[in-house]
Amino acid sequence: MYGKYKEFLQNELSEITDAGLYKNERVIVSAQNAEIEVEGGQKVLNFCMNNYLGLSNNKELIDAAKEAMDTRGFGMSSVRFICGTQDLHKTLEAKIADFFGTEDTILYAAAFDANGGVFEPLFSAEDAIISDSLNHASIIDGVRLSKSVRYRYNNADMEDLEAKLKLAQAQRFRIIVTDGVFSMDGNTAPMDKINELAKKYDALIMVDECHSAGVVGKTGRGVTELYDIRGEVDIITGTLGKAFGGAIGGFTTGRKEVIDILRQRSRPYLFSNSIPPMVANAGIKMFDMVSSTSDLQDKLHSNTDYFVEKMNTAGFDIKPTKSAICAVMLYDAKLSQEFAAELLKEGIYVIGFYYPVVPKEQARIRVQLSAAHKQEHLDKAIVAFTKVGKALGVIK
Ligand SMILES: *Cc1c(COP(=O)(O)O)cnc(C)c1O
Repeated sequence: MYGKYKEFLQNELSEITDAGLYKNERVIVSAQNAEIEVEGGQKVLNFCMNNYLGLSNNKELIDAAKEAMDTRGFGMSSVRFICGTQDLHKTLEAKIADFFGTEDTILYAAAFDANGGVFEPLFSAEDAIISDSLNHASIIDGVRLSKSVRYRYNNADMEDLEAKLKLAQAQRFRIIVTDGVFSMDGNTAPMDKINELAKKYDALIMVDECHSAGVVGKTGRGVTELYDIRGEVDIITGTLGKAFGGAIGGFTTGRKEVIDILRQRSRPYLFSNSIPPMVANAGIKMFDMVSSTSDLQDKLHSNTDYFVEKMNTAGFDIKPTKSAICAVMLYDAKLSQEFAAELLKEGIYVIGFYYPVVPKEQARIRVQLSAAHKQEHLDKAIVAFTKVGKALGVIK
């Protein structure tokens, strides 16, 4: 039976390859960090990880994970509401709510699930979901699962959002949905303006803080801190898989009744396994750390400022960023791939992105800064960028 289908898939795969879109995995043979070793033995500096705070290989988190394995075992073998809830899960949920200044939290196996399971239980055909055009794939999928009326506004475009809010007065309830930080440009959603419009047009607000939590705002509380609107956002989703240790896990945090309904009806919560005790315990430790000091944010912010300033001085065209993401604009797809390959030869690991991941003629290299980067790492990257930039005629 497989024969014809196999041929069909092989054709699809060749089309992907011919279009230059085939994705290969780079195999790392060390722990995740600023310096990694890749298969073949090359040691490179890593500028494409979401390990914003450098916690992915943190000793205290590893110890907390080990301790939980010793005392609470390896896995839960259950969804939360049957026999998959330990005190650790409840404590972690409370710590997350504390960190964000919200009323309650519900854990998921991933933020993809948090976003996938948030709309359908809360909003029906009578309601409207008004979503930023650059929102993450998991939001798009989650919105598709609901029966609500959908509106899409251009990225961070407040005039367009206002127009959509006017149209959405026809529905019972409205919710504005946005990423906190957009991962390709590093810009933030203008939350102050969104908050004003939400008030004016009687709308709820949901923010996905995956790239902003731990990163943005003086103490890393995310875009609600950056725009000084803590307590005004109704629903926040986030991940434990980026700044917060990088293992696995997601969450939705916000209004008490919202979280309560999700516990009753959110399908990825009801029908998927509970996160393991080691991840929960390391998460507790992690939120204790990031709640008590903002040293890691200070380091991350100064690293980002330093890198952006030096790259601008070197003559590169850098997108204005408000996060730890720095888009080095090259505009040409082929050039972006060549540039990244040359940087790798210099020991700098970055990814070049081009259409359809970013708009046509908007190819770029995305650099992700981390608190784990030392001054010498940044300097080495800037020297390499400058050398390759000159060789390829990008800068003078
Ligand atoms: C990474 C990311 C997710 C998915 O997070 P996981 O926990 O890895 O599933 C969702 N939304 C945004 C905006 C992200 O950047």
